[in-house]
Amino acid sequence: MSIVCFPFKEEDVSVVVRNVECAASHPRIAAVLCVGYSQGETWHAIENAKPRIEKASGKVVILLLQKRIGVALRGGKGDGMNTALSYFLEHTQYPRLHFYDADIVSFSEKWISKAEIQADLDYDVVRHHFPRSSTDAMITWFVTKLGFAMLWPNTVLPSIEQPLGGELLVTRRAAEVLLADPRVCSQSDWGIDTLYTFVIAQTGLRMAEVYIPEGKVHALYGGLRDLRTMLVECFSAIQSLKNEVVGSDAGGYCIEFAKAVPELVQQKVGYDIEKSLKLLRSQWTPRQQELLHQHFDSALVKGLLNARDWPCWGFADEEAWTGAYLKFLDHFEKGDDDWEELLFKVWVARVLNHTLRHVIRGYDVALGSLRDFVWETRQRFGMEL
Ligand code: GDP
Repeated sequence: MSIVCFPFKEEDVSVVVRNVECAASHPRIAAVLCVGYSQGETWHAIENAKPRIEKASGKVVILLLQKRIGVALRGGKGDGMNTALSYFLEHTQYPRLHFYDADIVSFSEKWISKAEIQADLDYDVVRHHFPRSSTDAMITWFVTKLGFAMLWPNTVLPSIEQPLGGELLVTRRAAEVLLADPRVCSQSDWGIDTLYTFVIAQTGLRMAEVYIPEGKVHALYGGLRDLRTMLVECFSAIQSLKNEVVGSDAGGYCIEFAKAVPELVQQKVGYDIEKSLKLLRSQWTPRQQELLHQHFDSALVKGLLNARDWPCWGFADEEAWTGAYLKFLDHFEKGDDDWEELLFKVWVARVLNHTLRHVIRGYDVALGSLRDFVWETRQRFGMEL
């Protein structure tokens, strides 16, 4: 029987405890492993609920503080997930390990069953995908999927529907491959999902994506500034891999078809637009302007500088983002606040451009524009190889 891991920081405790309970009661699950960032409120809530859940389910609930596995980068979700991988490799009674974000309100036993059944078909990795709002997943689309499409256009990587999803099952074989890879172990921050996905593809593990039609309801973001650290760390993870080679013959990949997207998901706006408009005007420094002039195309420079005075976004179209992305791949320096702020500003402009050019024309148009962008990028960069 398998083990489920919930990595957690501070979340709504009732949601987390309910999810632990739900996982523990699943007939295919023998243990639930909760890996905490620190011993805060969420930790204590799980600790208090543990005896009750263990008694009711007859399963084990393990609480573990994350270890410092990577040393060079910020200790974050990567250390949490790698701590779980290492626990799993040491406890050989469990053949499979599931990861789920702890804050999913719509989590149910179906998520576990779907992954288990797919893994029975001899897949090493099973990921979950779900319907997303057309303003959600803006790092996934513009950083990860686009980066995969530019750098490895003829591989499985840009086809993976939700490459940053924290919901996945790994078999013992996959966990061994992942934890033996020094790039994975050192990715202690938000870049961990990129590294897992990349290494799974590069090493040719068999991977499937199963579909959860209800979608993932979880804590929402305010303005896009909440996503700045995640953006920087996810971009930097791609940048660290840019010279890697990936074979075009994947180990085997299949994806379950998506279904009609629920109205609620279609109507959801994923971030606060008004708050985000102000971001283009704030936190400018003379050096950011210098870097802009030094490295970027004049149309982008002009557009971004105009946006200091008045909100504008028309300049940040798909073409401009692709051009800027290539410059960032060459020159971006993580830890340099001006570079990080520039990456953030250009990305904010791209997200606003997408929202105010495509999303206002309806859900299907918006999703279509995202899919076309990745597909056309694959074709363009595939031709240039
Ligand atoms: P998002 O779903 O990508 O917006 O990311 P969340 O902020 O919801 O985080 C996903 C999951 O990882 C949640 O269960 C968080 O509590 C958990 N998490 C985030 N950061 C850390 C961390 O530094 N360590 C651990 N152990 N868990 C984390």
